Amino acid sequence: MLKEKLARLEEVCWRNDGIKPAEIAIPQCELKFSDIEAAAARWQRFASYFKVAFPETEATDGILESPLREIPEMKAYLEKEYATEINGGLWLKMDSHLPVSGSIKARGGVYEVLATAEEIALREGLITLDSDYSVFADEKIKSVLSRYSIAVGSTGNLGLSIGIMSAKLGFRVTVHMSSDAREWKKNMLRTKGVKVVEYESDYSEAVRKGREEAEKDPYCHFIDDENSKTLFLGYSVAALRLKKQLEEKGIKVDADHPLNVYLPCGVGGGPGGVAFGLKQMFGDNVHCFFAEPVSACCMILGMSTGLHSKISTEDIGITARTAADGLAVGRASGFVGRLMEPFMSGCYTLTDERMCRLLAALADSEDIFLEPSALAGMYGPILTESSEEFGIFGKNKNRTHIVWATGGSMVPADEMKKYYLSGK
Ligand SMILES: *Cc1c(COP(=O)(O)O)cnc(C)c1O
Repeated sequence: MLKEKLARLEEVCWRNDGIKPAEIAIPQCELKFSDIEAAAARWQRFASYFKVAFPETEATDGILESPLREIPEMKAYLEKEYATEINGGLWLKMDSHLPVSGSIKARGGVYEVLATAEEIALREGLITLDSDYSVFADEKIKSVLSRYSIAVGSTGNLGLSIGIMSAKLGFRVTVHMSSDAREWKKNMLRTKGVKVVEYESDYSEAVRKGREEAEKDPYCHFIDDENSKTLFLGYSVAALRLKKQLEEKGIKVDADHPLNVYLPCGVGGGPGGVAFGLKQMFGDNVHCFFAEPVSACCMILGMSTGLHSKISTEDIGITARTAADGLAVGRASGFVGRLMEPFMSGCYTLTDERMCRLLAALADSEDIFLEPSALAGMYGPILTESSEEFGIFGKNKNRTHIVWATGGSMVPADEMKKYYLSGK
């Protein structure tokens, strides 16, 4: 039934009945809270480097973090447009404005590059874990790292993050870009000395080719978006930071004050890592929803059938073509899908048209400009308030809704104008 609807490109909501109470799910999970803490500690070690290499991070003491902002005007727009009352506050987590690469990939992608650089520098005796990591900006370490290379397959933003970070540290870096990748992203990378290889085909093909090439070179580290636990843990640190931001804003999260979080989903690592972290922090009081374009519904397909990465959108006759290039993925990560089984509350799909309309509405109401992918979560609060499937997650005055805005601040003005006009 659901599969037929997905194949017809209908918008659907799927509630995950396989979710388990946190007290059962957390101890059974292969990744632990201590893994998140270890990732946070690594980010902290690199803080002194970021202050030097990316001076815009000075204000946050070398920590890459994004604002959490209330969006009351957008809330009013949504309520009117959809004739639905949204109970509780509506907030935007603006990963769109993360330093370095302007998308959620500045969490996972950047983190895995840091982990790789640290491992090499430790092995080569250039640093200890107690060193001041600003030495990563010195020529000495950069010239050592230039003997190594990094490779990645991407629809755009992952390549942008990994390319920028790797080049900055001195690595040679190759980004294998799928046909979905925007021209400006490829150009920007080339000006930073990144080798960009373009493919006519989709994301899976770009990843496969990248992996193949990297396997031939023992000095090349391939960043595997579909299977990497390092990448995943880099994302998960967002939850620790969000907890602090909520406290600072006096927003309670407990049994009487539930939190709904809506996360755009491509291959699954970004939303999965964040959701995993949030479940560790808030347990049964947080409800995580993944949002996908109707044509790139790989996570809902994999989770609802239990087949995870063994099924792709092509198997149901649809091509993962979408204006939301950050989400243009036909096959979800099997690792993430399985790990999310006891944690995710639900998954939904929406059309490109809806994402673009929401893009224009957010620009008009709050003067915030995002890329289409980043609007996938914005439909979530409407669905939890009004759909039958997600009904148990709505209608509570004490609820807080957080829409995870995953990218957009680096989109060139002329490109942004096109998105905006298509939404109008
Ligand atoms: C990559 C990306 C996502 C989703 O992350 P996945 O790890 O692929 O699921 C969401 N939004 C934007 C803008 C992205 O670039």
